[in-house]
Amino acid sequence: MHKILVANRGEIALRIMRSAREMGIKTVAVYSDADRNALHVRYADEAVHIGPSPSNKSYLCGDKIIEACRQTGAEAIHPGYGFLSENAAFARQVKAAGLILIGPSPEAMEIMGNKLSAKAAALKYHIPMVPGTEEAITDVAEAKQRAIEVGFPILIKAAAGGGGKGMRVVENAADFEEQMHVAVSEATSAFGDGSVFIERYISSPKHIEIQVLGDSHGNIVHLFERDCSVQRRHQKVIEEAPSATITPAISAKMGKCAIDVARSVNYTGAGTVEFIMDDQLNFYFLEMNTRLQVEHPVTELITGIDLVKEQIKIARGEAISFKQDELAINGHAIELRVYAEDPANNFLPDIGTLQTYITPKGAGVRVDDGFEQGMEIPIYYDPMIAKLIIYGKDRNEAIERMTRAIDEYQITGIATTLGFGKFVMQHEVFISGKFDTHFVKEYFKPKALHTENEDEALIAALIIQRLLSAKSREVPLLSENSYWVKNRKEI
Ligand code: ADP
Ligand code: ADP
Ligand code: MG
Repeated sequence: MHKILVANRGEIALRIMRSAREMGIKTVAVYSDADRNALHVRYADEAVHIGPSPSNKSYLCGDKIIEACRQTGAEAIHPGYGFLSENAAFARQVKAAGLILIGPSPEAMEIMGNKLSAKAAALKYHIPMVPGTEEAITDVAEAKQRAIEVGFPILIKAAAGGGGKGMRVVENAADFEEQMHVAVSEATSAFGDGSVFIERYISSPKHIEIQVLGDSHGNIVHLFERDCSVQRRHQKVIEEAPSATITPAISAKMGKCAIDVARSVNYTGAGTVEFIMDDQLNFYFLEMNTRLQVEHPVTELITGIDLVKEQIKIARGEAISFKQDELAINGHAIELRVYAEDPANNFLPDIGTLQTYITPKGAGVRVDDGFEQGMEIPIYYDPMIAKLIIYGKDRNEAIERMTRAIDEYQITGIATTLGFGKFVMQHEVFISGKFDTHFVKEYFKPKALHTENEDEALIAALIIQRLLSAKSREVPLLSENSYWVKNRKEI
């Protein structure tokens, strides 16, 4: 393998190219109109323009990507995450064109791409499942009956769902019919497949997932767990490895289950088996993601393994060079997804230009990003600007270091999740490790973000007032009714 085309953009495209370059492999970038000046385009050895900004006219066009391989002589494609990374039809197209897709087989992708066929495969190995329906349900009356048997609250899920979309919580039987109609129509419009099923809604759950690697020689290993319970809209914002709460015995048991799930489809490459865990530490299989995960760097930091290099070696037909018992956890890693979103406004995406963009530095700090100062965040794609990934000798050091790095990180011109990240690091429930997927909903109040800035502004206003009033006692600068004066504290 001498040349790899990276069919993605932003931080993940750069991250993949860096590992390829270290292995002496040439890289090809593809880009849309909006990404003409993007960093991944400048970093690559070659770059091919593949169309207009909307992803369905560029990054999602399999034909254009395969054509770009022909033009440049790239022998393999790394799809990153999102876009075509879990598209079995594309995987087949790549194979038919005589190229290598750095990922699992199209068959494995297809089975795991549907949450129901994934569960059916996993059941062969007696993996624990959330109580619910094992098949897609279409008849509303029958579905309601099943929901009553499972017990409310329940979750209606799209079999083809992903990215936290296509899920409806139903609290009681009276709401069921209406919610089911909404779920089916949402699934149809978002995924082109209206199949839905029912799962019991686990009340205080943790999202725990296991990283796996499989090779074409039948070896499968796991690289321990990640806790991704800090979520908004069923989507992850902060991830860590290892988990602060599960015991080594449970971790090992989950690792074994994850290997079995991977084995059920003869999995090759890097993949993630996701579980939901209740407050009694019982865990249940949710789904398998057949690609590199956004949060993979936390696993890299605690294991010392470069997952992209492993993916490339596996795609070249090499056997995994280490055994399960040679792997060990060292230290603790936490990732904050720095999104162009406004936490004070329901985490809605924000758009604009990175007027200031200065990244943190120093021991244990890794920033995977795809932007630099002065760049605009395109509206066409995922609003993630960067990932701030922190390593510490233990969880405590990782939390303190994350707080320090967030303070150093300077972004203006756009709202981000940085301040939110600091709020989480300083929250006693997060520090205790006893948080679940409702952490954001239960504890995060937008007000929490502003106190610090307001304190600074208040101090500045009072200093100015004191300086001025020393000169002229008659004319107070701030009226007694002004916000700052009303909120005056002793300083
Ligand atoms: P991870 O499990 O790696 O954290 P996310 O759920 O955050 O994955 O998704 C990673 C990327 O893939 C995001 O850009 C998300 O929008 C996209 N994505 C995931 N699943 C789907 C899907 N079924 N359809 C479209 N996009 C998806
Ligand atoms: P997606 O394909 O969108 O990632 P998942 O099945 O992985 O879908 O679920 C995403 C998130 O939704 C989980 O991380 C968890 O927070 C929540 N979730 C999923 N299933 C359940 C369940 N049965 N009970 C409670 N929460 C759930
Ligand atoms: Mg998931």
